[in-house]
Amino acid sequence: MAVLVTGGAGYIGSHTSIELLEAGHEVIIVDNLCNSDKIVLERIKELSGKSPKFYEIDITDKEKMEVVFKENKINSIIHFAALKAVGESVAMPVEYYSNNLISTLVLFELMKKYNVKNFVFSSSATVYGDPEKLPILEDSSLSVTNPYGRTKLMIEDMLRDIYYADNSLNIAILRYFNPIGAHKSGIIGEEPNGIPNNIMPYITKVAVGQLPHLNVFGDDYNTVDGTGVRDYIHVLDLAHGHVKALEKLSENPGIVTYNLGTGRGYSVLELVKAFSKASGKEIPYKITDRRPGDIASCYSDPTKAEKELGWKAKYGIDEMCEDSWRWQSQNPNGYKK
Ligand code: NAD
Ligand code: UDP
Repeated sequence: MAVLVTGGAGYIGSHTSIELLEAGHEVIIVDNLCNSDKIVLERIKELSGKSPKFYEIDITDKEKMEVVFKENKINSIIHFAALKAVGESVAMPVEYYSNNLISTLVLFELMKKYNVKNFVFSSSATVYGDPEKLPILEDSSLSVTNPYGRTKLMIEDMLRDIYYADNSLNIAILRYFNPIGAHKSGIIGEEPNGIPNNIMPYITKVAVGQLPHLNVFGDDYNTVDGTGVRDYIHVLDLAHGHVKALEKLSENPGIVTYNLGTGRGYSVLELVKAFSKASGKEIPYKITDRRPGDIASCYSDPTKAEKELGWKAKYGIDEMCEDSWRWQSQNPNGYKK
């Protein structure tokens, strides 16, 4: 099956592309490399033994995207491409709305013209806002607090409208919890620009000595040790979830929504401890004020994905930490030499 993977050079997209190639799919990657590196394409080939087709194109450019649809018989689309930094989205809302919304609309315009029916969308647990009930089920109420999150919820709403108007489509909305970890080879992984916002790349940068200590954002939450609790999920489990979602779409399910998480929450201090055990590195930390907009706890109920997709996360926190560490310690400067 020919799968168009937007954002396939990025963190989750690169791991998923390998999984798709290994499962026998043809992969066509479109990425403008605004948050990734061309070398990832070579590494995908090295790891999977197969070359994805690659177009360096901005998806918001409809004319250029049309060439991709003309040149390939696309069966399904997995749409990872997006700007994704919460803080940056507050400072640059126009860029976020423009990039994330227009890219999705361009894809749907071309899907209609070229009769492509299957679409998988990268959503996020951020659409649950501050959850009323834990663990979080897919039918929980939705609310967002920043422009990045709003682009995700707006696109989800758009997808529901688009499906309502055209029931021949098959759409999977995948709500990721907190992706960490890296490929077992240690040659692809997460490479954030500048000082990381997310906790795992921050911890690994402390471990390689590029940052002096971790700031733990608050220890007065109502959690096991006062620090924030999240449902960390290995990027390889996420990648596998996308292959399962494509299989599901081939059964013509209409529009479906799944949580991709482990169902288990870990506090910041528990994560730091697991990382130290996996890496043998002490992570110095300082407790600071809460980060504005953060919530105390967020973890999934992933049983719907297990029942309907036959998907369940298989990696635990220790392996997530080991694999994040292998990537960072082997590539202290990421993809840059
Ligand atoms: P990433 O930044 O590593 O990958 C996104 C890729 O999309 C990058 O390679 C970037 O160059 C590309 N891109 C962005 N805009 C583009 C455009 N207009 N045209 C072409 N390419 C474009 O991010 P990621 O962590 O792999 O995230 C993938 C998706 O998953 C995103 O939609 C993100 O919002 C979502 N998500 C990520 C997380 C997370 O913590 N990493 C959590 C929940 C949801
Ligand atoms: N966190 C932290 N220090 C950091 C980054 C994050 O203490 O430098 C905490 C944050 O408050 C939250 C958890 O780690 O409780 C996960 O944060 P992250 O930004 O990775 O993901 P989020 O769940 O906010 O999307």
